[in-house]
Amino acid sequence: MKVLVINAGSSSLKYQLLDTDSQAVLAKGLCERIGIDGKFTYKAPGKATVDAVDIAMPTHSEAIQAVLDALVDPANGVIASMKEIDAVGHRVVHGGETFASSVKIDSKVMAALEECIPLAPLHNPANITGIKACTAVMGPDVPQVAVFDTAFHQTMPPVAYTYALPYEYYEQDKVRRYGFHGTSHKYVTQRAADMLGKPIESLKLISCHLGNGSSIAAVAGAKSVDTSMGFTPLAGLPMGTRSGDLDAGILEYLMNKHGMDIKEMLNILNKKSGVQGVSGVSSDFRDLGSAAEQGNGRAALALGMFSYGVKKYIGAYAAAMGGVDAIIFTAGVGENDADQRMAIASGLEYMGVKMDPDANNVRGKEAIISAIDSKVKVLLIPTNEELMIALDTAALV
Ligand code: AMP
Repeated sequence: MKVLVINAGSSSLKYQLLDTDSQAVLAKGLCERIGIDGKFTYKAPGKATVDAVDIAMPTHSEAIQAVLDALVDPANGVIASMKEIDAVGHRVVHGGETFASSVKIDSKVMAALEECIPLAPLHNPANITGIKACTAVMGPDVPQVAVFDTAFHQTMPPVAYTYALPYEYYEQDKVRRYGFHGTSHKYVTQRAADMLGKPIESLKLISCHLGNGSSIAAVAGAKSVDTSMGFTPLAGLPMGTRSGDLDAGILEYLMNKHGMDIKEMLNILNKKSGVQGVSGVSSDFRDLGSAAEQGNGRAALALGMFSYGVKKYIGAYAAAMGGVDAIIFTAGVGENDADQRMAIASGLEYMGVKMDPDANNVRGKEAIISAIDSKVKVLLIPTNEELMIALDTAALV
C-alpha cells in the first residue's frame, strides 16, 4: 500500500510517500513558509532533488497541491497519478483521553479533534488544517488516518498519570499526564522485541527518546505504563531548550523578582532553558561536547545533568515495572552520541547493565550495545515515526 504521511505545522508541512509492503520511502520533503511566501523541497531516490524552490503557498492546500504535483511529475515523480496513493496518515500531536489508538478520520473524529485543541493550542490546529487541506485537494474518498503522539501512553494507570492537584482539575479540566513521542516509543519498542527475538508482551522495556525534545517511557507488555513528559512536552528531562521538571514555586519567585508575566516565564522555560540555558553555549549536544572538551565547565555541567537525569528515570522505571529486560536509545542524541549513552549506562551495573564500549561505538543504525553477558540488553534503534504512521494507516485502511 502507498501511504502519504503528513506532519503539518502552522507554517510548514513535512511529507513522505511510503510503500508499506517494502517499507521503502518513495519520496519525501518539506513545504516551508506556508502563509508567507512558500518554499518547496522534494527528494526521491534516483531523481533530481528540488531544494527550497519558490512556490506560492498562501494556505496548506497549495502546499498539498505542490506535493502531489511533484509526486506525479513525469520527469521526477514516483507515481503515475494521485490514484496510486491509497491513504494519507497524519501526525496529530494531542488526542487527549478520546484517542487511545490511531483512528480513521470522519466527521465525528474531526469534531473530537477540534475538542482537543485547548490541550495543544499551538499544534492541533495546524494538524487539523493539514487534514482539511488533504480533503480539499485529494477529495473526500481518499481515506485519512490520524496518528497521535499521545495515544500510546493512554495505557498508563491512574497512579502514573494523575497529578496531586485538587481532583476536579482532572475531572473538569482534563489536567493529567498525557505523554508525547508515543509513535516513536511504540516503534522502537516493537523493533526491540524483534531484535531480541521475544514477544513484546513478555518484555519490560525502557525507551529513551533523546533528541532536541526528550522523553522516556516505561513499556511493560507492549503497554506504556509511565512516561516523563506530562500535560505538555515541557515536563521530565532537561532538554535542548526546555527546562523539564522544576519546583513550581520557582515561577512565582522569578516572576515577582524580574517583573515577568506568565507568557515571558513560559517562553524562558520552553525556549531558553535546558542544556542551552545551563551551558549558555548551545542546545546542540555536538557543540556542548566540543565546548566541554575545551574546558567549558557549564557545558560539562549541562551534559552531566542530562545523563544524570536519564539515569534517574531508568532507575525509577525499573522500579515501577519491577525490573527491565532492555533499555533502548533513540532520536538525535540517543542514536548518535556514544559518550552520552556511556555516561547514562555507567553506574547501572548493579541492576545488570554492562555496556560493550566497542559495540557502543556506533551511530544511527540498529545495534546491541551491551556486553554479551549483560543481563539487561542495551539497544540502539533509530526511530522512524513516519513508518509507524504509515503502518498504522495501512492497518486501519
Ligand atoms: P532530534 O530532535 O531527534 O532531531 O535530535 C536533534 C539533536 O540530536 C541535536 O540538537 C543534537 O543535540 C543531537 N545530535 C545530532 N547528531 C549528533 C551527534 N553526532 N552527536 C551528538 N548529538 C547529536
